[in-house]
Amino acid sequence: MGRITLDKVTKRFGEVEVIPPLDLTIEDGEFVVFVGPSGCGKSTLLRLIAGLEDVSGGEIRIDGRDATEVPPAKRGLAMVFQSYALYPHMSVRKNIAFPLRMANMDKAEQDRRIESAAKVLNLTDYLERRPGQLSGGQRQRVAIGRAIVREPAAFLFDEPLSNLDAALRVGMRLEISELHERLKTTMIYVTHDQVEAMTMADKIVVLRAGNIEQVGSPLDLYRSPRNLFVAGFIGSPT
Ligand code: ADP
Ligand code: MG
Repeated sequence: MGRITLDKVTKRFGEVEVIPPLDLTIEDGEFVVFVGPSGCGKSTLLRLIAGLEDVSGGEIRIDGRDATEVPPAKRGLAMVFQSYALYPHMSVRKNIAFPLRMANMDKAEQDRRIESAAKVLNLTDYLERRPGQLSGGQRQRVAIGRAIVREPAAFLFDEPLSNLDAALRVGMRLEISELHERLKTTMIYVTHDQVEAMTMADKIVVLRAGNIEQVGSPLDLYRSPRNLFVAGFIGSPT
């Protein structure tokens, strides 16, 4: 569960090709970070995997299945956005339960999953509050909780921490890494922040204008950057 392969995947918006043919394999359980400057196609790539955008060419396979045959809600992937996308009029409990209610899940099973996610995320005492009564970090945890309860094959994070202040960002980074240690679920994490990439990733994918410049572990990229762009971006000595 959670192996994702991209085979010559392309994406055009009108005449503009933002993702030229791209091949990539993400192994089950890996923490993969897509990193690169703003506008390089990180979000587009994530949205293609999630099925929020259609590929213009090529193939995405999730656990061997051709993803184009599977609607987004059935892909077993849970996306966490920078904007949190919480419902302000609903309690934390209802926000977290939302995808489960949509799936008509048995109420007892819903409650079991909510309690368990709340415990992991330190939200047990906040379940009856509304998002407006929470701090930024807590809101981000609710958004992550809503992903956890779906027990997805993979988590997709799109710059989840960019709305948080620097100190909180460090803490949430650790929490997400811990969550990965605990769940061992595939995570794809998009950021333009080199420090996040270097500290969180098993595997870093460096993107530039929709092209993969290099794929490797943080240490590989630091020691053997393939070109000046990667070296500059990762901060390798040159
Ligand atoms: P990143 O997340 O790395 O900042 P994006 O994936 O959002 O980059 O964008 C990559 C490129 O695709 C940018 O040039 C952006 O303007 C363009 N783009 C993204 N979404 C659309 C869209 N819906 N229509 C047209 N162009 C888009
Ligand atoms: Mg983006």
